[in-house]
Amino acid sequence: MTAFNVRLTFHGDLTFFLRPRSAHLERHLSERTSVKDIIEGCGVPHTEVDLILVEGAPANFSRVIASESDIEVFPVEPEPITAFPENRLQVRNVRKFVADGHLGKLVRDLRLLGIDVTYDRDANDPRLVEISSSEERALLTRDRRLLMHSALRHGYYLRSQNPLHQTVEVIRRFNLANSFAPFGRCLLCNAVLELAAKESVIQELEPLTRIYYDQFRRCPECGQVYWSRSHFEKLQKRIEAIQTRIKAEVVR
Ligand SMILES: [Zn+2]
Repeated sequence: MTAFNVRLTFHGDLTFFLRPRSAHLERHLSERTSVKDIIEGCGVPHTEVDLILVEGAPANFSRVIASESDIEVFPVEPEPITAFPENRLQVRNVRKFVADGHLGKLVRDLRLLGIDVTYDRDANDPRLVEISSSEERALLTRDRRLLMHSALRHGYYLRSQNPLHQTVEVIRRFNLANSFAPFGRCLLCNAVLELAAKESVIQELEPLTRIYYDQFRRCPECGQVYWSRSHFEKLQKRIEAIQTRIKAEVVR
């Protein structure tokens, strides 16, 4: 077949992924190519794309482009969605996550807010994709090649390297601000914590803790005990820092 050109326009913050960061690109193709492959060939993972218009009409990732075309690519934007609400490609209300092995601090922050995040520092890329697909968890990563895996349905590329900023990014992308359940989840293993009577945990406590603290939670999976003040005050400060940052971003 004869070669052809496609012209792409990337909207919103999708230019973050492009080098140079120009909204307009032209690609020369010599064979039929899926629109997913064309977009990812420009550096933008499909998990970041919420709407594709080919010649002004909505298209799926599997749409094959075989001739000269104009393609517009839109990011996930905050609700409410106005144009083409029926043709959006990303799910917004994901409430479960899996994080790749470099994101321990982000994982801790999200669990602190009660958000369900699976994390195994040793999980390799195929395993992360498998967990994401089989458990319908959105994959959080800074590896954009990983997000281009065709079996991956939900994911998010963290723009910042700062854990606090990353936490706010995830909350905004998946509309989690009303889903917090602070101190509800084990920071070490992600299990939902249970209230524990003091008598049941007293053997595991330091002498001063035994005297001063009365409220306890225990992880039913790994046995970690959490108690008020010493743990909770420090953690509460972290939650407040996250919430301050969310408010600052809303104002901006
Ligand atoms: Zn635990």
